[in-house]
This record gives sequence, C-alpha cells and structure tokens, in this order.
Amino acid sequence: MSDRPIFVTQPYLPPLEEFVPYLEKIWANKTLTNGGPMHQQLEKALCEYLGVEHIALFANGTLALVTALQALRITGEVITTPYSFVATAHSLLWNGIKPVFVDIDPNTLNLDPVKIEAAITPQTTAILPVHCYGHPCNVREIQRIADNYNLKVIYDAAHAFGVQDEGGSLLRHGDMSVLSFHATKVFNTFEGGAIVCPDAKTKQRIDQLKNFGFVDEITVVAPGINGKMSEINAAFGLLQLQHIEEVIASRRKIDLTYRELLKGVKGIRCVEDAGEVVANYSYFPILVEADYRLSRDELYQKLKDNNVFARRYFYPLISDFPMYRGMQSAQKDNLTVADQMAEKVLCLPIYPALSQVEQEKIIKIISDESGN
Ligand SMILES: *Cc1c(COP(=O)(O)O)cnc(C)c1O
Repeated sequence: MSDRPIFVTQPYLPPLEEFVPYLEKIWANKTLTNGGPMHQQLEKALCEYLGVEHIALFANGTLALVTALQALRITGEVITTPYSFVATAHSLLWNGIKPVFVDIDPNTLNLDPVKIEAAITPQTTAILPVHCYGHPCNVREIQRIADNYNLKVIYDAAHAFGVQDEGGSLLRHGDMSVLSFHATKVFNTFEGGAIVCPDAKTKQRIDQLKNFGFVDEITVVAPGINGKMSEINAAFGLLQLQHIEEVIASRRKIDLTYRELLKGVKGIRCVEDAGEVVANYSYFPILVEADYRLSRDELYQKLKDNNVFARRYFYPLISDFPMYRGMQSAQKDNLTVADQMAEKVLCLPIYPALSQVEQEKIIKIISDESGN
C-alpha cells in the first residue's frame, strides 16, 4: 500500500508559532521547574476547565499513581482491574502492595462492583478502579462498598480527562483521581500527569511527596520522589487547553461516524457509553464477536496489511504478565469476562487529524464482505 500509515492515535500539536511566546517567557524568567509560574497557572486553569477543587501536576501519570497511594498511606492489598494499562497494577507493586484482581463488567469493561466484596480480606485497604476508555465506573456502588468496609478509593482516570456525569466532573469521586497527560492521551503535555484531590491539606501532602518530601528549605518529612512537572511541559499544557474544545469536537465527529457506519456490520459491537453526560472520545474500542467473518487477530492483521495499525488494548490482561500471573486472583477462572473481552477488543484509530477519507478506508476494510 502506498498510503501513509494510520496509527491508533496521533498526538495533537497546536501550531508551533503559538508555543514560542510561552518559551520566551520561560527564557526571560529562567525558572525551569519546581512549581514555577507556568506550573501554577496550569494547575489553576485545569481546576477551572475540569471543574475540580485541587490538582497537583506530575511528570507523568505513573508517578502520580505511585504518589497517590503513598499520600493515602495505602498498604496490604488493593482491589483492581486486570483490564487496563500495566501501570495501574505496577503502581501497587512499586509501593509493596499486593494487587487483587477482580473481574470486569461485560458492557462497561470496568471493575464489576458485584464481584468486589468477595475479594475483600482483612488486608484490603483500598480499591483502584479504572474509568476504562473514559467510560465512568459504577462510582456509587464502589463508594457504597468502600464506606461499608472502610476502604479508600483511588480512580485511575488516565482515560477520563474532561468526562462528566450528571453531577459534574467524574474526577470528584473517590479519595483521589489520577490523570495522565502522555502523548497518546486526549490532553497531552508530551509527558505529564496529575492527582485530583478534594482538600487543600491533601494537596499539600502530595506536593511534598512529589518534591522529595521537602516541607521547607531544611525540613524533609517523607521519602518523597521527584515527580514534578517542568515549566516547559506546563506551558505546553496551557497552550493545549486553548485547543481542547476543538480536539474533543473532532474526536466526537469521528466517534459518531464509526458508530453510524459500523452499525450494519454483523459481528462488530461498539462499546457503548456508561452514563457519561460529557464524553471525551479518547478511544474507539470495538468488540469482534464470534459471528464476524474473521477472528479479532485476523482483522487486526488485515488492517495492518492495509497500513492501519489498530491496537488490541488491553490484551494481554495485566494479570497475564509474569510478575502477576502466579497470583491467585490472576487465574483465568477468576477473570472470565476480562479474559473474553481481551480476546475480542480492537481499538480503532481516533485522533483529530484522522481524515474522513482515512476513516472511510478503515471502515471499508472492516465491512468489506468480499475480504481481501
Ligand atoms: C497512560 C496510562 C497510565 C500511565 O500514564 P503515564 O502518563 O504514561 O505514566 C496509567 N493508567 C492508564 C489506564 C493509562 O492509560
């Protein structure tokens, strides 16, 4: 194929000349990191845009996850989903915490609350769910269980930038929510991340932990990490925020077109929303069912042969990686739904610069009855 390759995502980059004034400011005041003016402005701007009270910026989402667990002093066992990016469970291992995998709901692909209680032991201290593909977890039921058993809830909200339910920002739920601003995410700062938390005191502790545990010039209160976001990333985030509405609007259009044109394709199921009032269209997962004419892997390969690089997120399951697969909760019979979904899912390309012609090409490959 002579066409240029189409990847599952392509980072949004604003016009370069718009970034130059930000760089000039950084060069003029010579503050490169450590909570400088760009960092402060981005925290304020994100609180406004997202509709949250407190946010602490990080160098990436993984450090934010690790630090969120530290800030809440989580220990012992934490209930989490196997159907996510591997960083979700890795953040537990980095804290010496044992992940306990619980199966997912076949419609939302999020942690199934009905199965959480059976996994709680005296060692359980928290639940770490993921708003997978930006679709909200069953936050009410998760909070009810957490309240009953006195557990903390930390949402891995890496996919959920800007998502709202009927009460407002999805990020207001639980004790903390963690965002990623990695290049592949809806809102990117090249690399970056954040913790959203409900009160100023918690934010202060997070800010100390991400800066080696420093409280002031001569006082260190915890074995903190260096998790700070630099001024250049923060400045880029400020510029990205100027464009976020158009970015999400163009993703929405692509999402609607896929749904419309894949409707009649036998054996292809689009993942529906999960009660969000404002969505972010971060991914476009389809499920390749048994009555489709190809297997999921055959379709994946066929797209690839046509220069379309869809991705099998999240296959393999986290629980299948070597550092997890020996655990009791990682066994297949505990995770039957997640296991089935990981065998069916294919994430199709979705990003602002994906043209209509390119999208039609992808849909044609999927729906082409004659095969090729
Ligand atoms: C991207 C992602 C992360 C990690 O974020 P980084 O910024 O890449 O460190 C964590 N969890 C999920 C679900 C993600 O998709």
